Amino acid sequence: MKDPSPFPSFRAPYAPDDRVIAARLLETADLSAEQDARIDRTATRLIEAIRANDDRLGGVEDMLREFALSTKEGLALMVLAEALLRVPDARTADQFIEDKLGQGDFVHHETKSSAFLVNASAWALGMSARVIQPGETPEGTIGRLAKRLGVPAVRAATRQAMRLMGSHFVLGETIEAALARAEPHSADAARYSFDMLGEGARTANDAERYFNSYASAIGAIGGTADDRPLPDRPGISVKLSALHPRFEAVSRERVMKELVPRLIDLARRAKAYDLNFTVDAEEADRLELSLDVIAAAFSDASLKGWDGFGLAIQAYQKRARAVIDYTDDLARALSRRMMVRLVKGAYWDSEIKRAQERGLDDYPVFTRKAMTDLNYIACAQRLLALRPRLFPQFATHNALTVATVLELAGGDSGFEFQRLHGMGEALYAQLGQDRPELAYRTYAPVGSHRDLLAYLVRRLLENGANSSFVAIAADDNVPVATLLRRPAEIIGTADNARHPNIPLPRDLFQPQRQNSRGMEFGASPFPETRRQMIGRGSLFGVSGYRWIPAKSTVHLRYWAVLAAAERVPEALVWTGENNVHFEP
Ligand SMILES: Cc1cc2nc3c(=O)[nH]c(=O)nc-3n(C[C@H](O)[C@H](O)[C@H](O)COP(=O)(O)OP(=O)(O)OC[C@H]3O[C@@H](n4cnc5c(N)ncnc54)[C@H](O)[C@@H]3O)c2cc1C
Repeated sequence: MKDPSPFPSFRAPYAPDDRVIAARLLETADLSAEQDARIDRTATRLIEAIRANDDRLGGVEDMLREFALSTKEGLALMVLAEALLRVPDARTADQFIEDKLGQGDFVHHETKSSAFLVNASAWALGMSARVIQPGETPEGTIGRLAKRLGVPAVRAATRQAMRLMGSHFVLGETIEAALARAEPHSADAARYSFDMLGEGARTANDAERYFNSYASAIGAIGGTADDRPLPDRPGISVKLSALHPRFEAVSRERVMKELVPRLIDLARRAKAYDLNFTVDAEEADRLELSLDVIAAAFSDASLKGWDGFGLAIQAYQKRARAVIDYTDDLARALSRRMMVRLVKGAYWDSEIKRAQERGLDDYPVFTRKAMTDLNYIACAQRLLALRPRLFPQFATHNALTVATVLELAGGDSGFEFQRLHGMGEALYAQLGQDRPELAYRTYAPVGSHRDLLAYLVRRLLENGANSSFVAIAADDNVPVATLLRRPAEIIGTADNARHPNIPLPRDLFQPQRQNSRGMEFGASPFPETRRQMIGRGSLFGVSGYRWIPAKSTVHLRYWAVLAAAERVPEALVWTGENNVHFEP
């Protein structure tokens, strides 16, 4: 099949050595003393605004921290929540929960406080939020909770918690409800990018359902937008994994044939209303394929003359800088502009796990948060330098990151910030007050609770992780000075670029043994050329194959050997025609 993309594919080393990147980043990280002082002042003001925010106490953010996935209760809640979200009808959901909770000899009793049912954050009362102990299961934790509180209370609290979290993070269950809840699009109101919940389509029907929901959302968003030009227009974010059930590197040919036309179709609809249309960033092993799809769709002649097409780039990926340069090359080649959302990345835990499962040589993402922060700033600098061909959109809830970007930008126009609905409110409210010219966009998920789970897990991880800025900033015991520590200072030298407690995937089981080596189909065999592989004569260091020069004659002989053996022989020896014996 002829490839629909006229543009060369993206190639960059999948998982290079962190230390090499750190050396480069540290070299350029220094700012002047005046710049550092300004960053300190801006960040401190933003952190104080976050800490002064009254809504924080007793709100959903507190609850999320209380039920972080690293606590037993948080995990138990997610087990139940998962059941609740996946079971299609309420009656079956109830039965399922009853069944899960009813396995022990529970004493049913009503909870003492009626407030318990009103605010699920009360769940935290009377519970110790300890980290899971070896041998404990989430089900066991639920069982003990149910014993203490009674099954109906746990069921109600779980439902309440999900509703609370759903309404906190989701702007509306339908695009119409979300548009009604969004502030009207006006000169002084925030911009919106709507995200129809749903990802990882498993069937063609799923993909069609998501396509239709994107298509009708574009119509609804476009229909209510006023006539101001880009970038001051609402937008939509799409996930390629929602649009194709086989969005994976090994299905490239099929993906290019089937997904590219779908993406072009959606992009044309967005173009008709001059919207911002962003392709979200997903897992690292889909990056090359995503960029192939994006390049093919973006190159379509029907999208000419529109500056709204964009993509998200993750700074925790070691290839982030290369992706920015690729995007710039693409925009330059077509003489068009693109919008680029810079994020740190929301799939860190699964990236680490996946690389370990696959026994890769190294990780595609950094293992220290400060490296991600450092790379984010370097990428921000690069994006700002590539204006106006690229329109940078800095998506972060980290006050220090925001303050540093502001310093580097040298003005308030030509870029925007982005936040997620339900997060970063106090920070951006303060910023809006201090610098009214500055634009920011709210990323607003839309959808039913059924499609919420994957998104919710990422938010729970983000809010609960002890390295996460929102979690630390909310803790008044942490001095502001700690939050102002620069990533370059934390890393210090290139030798500290890797996390000391996260071994390389291949060393995961050391000193017992080496991890088995796997293949990453999502990575082109870069930087090793075929010639180098031939020279090496081995696959992953094991001489498992032999390269045969094209013109040599190949002779093959086969024997079928039938012999009784007491044990599996070590070798088979051929000593001449029809003379084969086992070596013991
Ligand atoms: C508007 C918007 C759109 C978004 N779209 C996307 C998207 O398309 N794709 C996507 O993946 N994410 C997306 N995100 C989520 C985004 O990646 C997270 O919100 C973001 O990483 C949190 O960064 P922060 O600067 O707010 O917080 P910080 O607390 O400063 O950073 C947290 C981040 O640091 C990184 N990190 C944490 N621990 C480590 C470690 N040990 N080693 C290396 N890195 C580490 C992770 O990326 C983690 O998310 C979006 C966010 C926003 C606000």
